[in-house]
Amino acid sequence: MKRTVMYITVYALLIFFIPFFVVSFYGNMPKPQTELSKNYIKQSETKLGKKPYKIKSYIVSADEVREYELEDYLVGVVGAEMPASFPDEALKAQAVAARTFIISRIMADKGDVSEHKGAAVCTNPAHCKAWKSTEELCAAWGDKAEENLKKIKTAVKATENEIIVYNGEPITAVYYSMSGGKTENAADVWGGEVPYLKSVASGFDENAPNFNSEASFTFDEFKEIILKEAPDAVFGENPAEWFSDAALSEGGGVMSIKIGGVEFKGTKIRTMFSLRSHNFTVAPVGDKIVFKVKGYGHGVGLSQWGSKFLADSGKSYIDILKYYYTGVEVVKQ
Ligand SMILES: [Zn+2]
Repeated sequence: MKRTVMYITVYALLIFFIPFFVVSFYGNMPKPQTELSKNYIKQSETKLGKKPYKIKSYIVSADEVREYELEDYLVGVVGAEMPASFPDEALKAQAVAARTFIISRIMADKGDVSEHKGAAVCTNPAHCKAWKSTEELCAAWGDKAEENLKKIKTAVKATENEIIVYNGEPITAVYYSMSGGKTENAADVWGGEVPYLKSVASGFDENAPNFNSEASFTFDEFKEIILKEAPDAVFGENPAEWFSDAALSEGGGVMSIKIGGVEFKGTKIRTMFSLRSHNFTVAPVGDKIVFKVKGYGHGVGLSQWGSKFLADSGKSYIDILKYYYTGVEVVKQ
């Protein structure tokens, strides 16, 4: 009998104290960054106003600034940036990344970006994010117009008002078509450390169409392009000796390479020779200089094809975003 009383007392004490242990244990853990910072909330009230948020965009094709509801504008961005045939979770990841990118642009907007003619964003994909009107999208989709539009609207609606944050602030949610097998550190491509834009493995990108590409130039064509940028470059008899000191990033991109004794950034070479990415090798093959290139785009942040493959393997859009953007949270604002 005594023993029973003792057990009951011990149980009672345990039941009473366990919640205190749990609370005090978790209370001391670092808080997950699931909340928007006070600073952001204050600034967003001024910059974004009340929901539904409005956005001004400079529509390049029409050469005018137009105002849209942000969520409607996003349908045009997602439709222009990602194939509608991609799985729903990839489209949702794209919608949240695009929304975050645009919001961070609005927050930074001082109305002084000359390309924007007073708007916060523009529709030039090389400058901001691509965008197409519903009419343009449907014309391009043909028979599939109704189905595709519904799919994209659903992806935007399902993630309404959701953005990606790091330390409670919206991130610069950059993305591109496919990596060269690993994504790039922002610092290696643009300079400047960004804690959430770190190199991660993205090997499944190799299954994307045209993952490998080549670009060939005759010796004369090649020399002409280089000499235009670097008149001091010296080309000897043996083309194999034109190239030296290639330095690669963690993501596998060419950070720098010497050509004819002159150092170039890999990203600069990409632009000069219109390569699909700066993840390349270059060497003479027969009577040509041949670039062998992997992936498509700058390689920093989210890989769109990688997102497709992750979605195909059962990952959610949150999994995908957290995979490509290190240490972030997705929050509803
Ligand atoms: Zn722009």
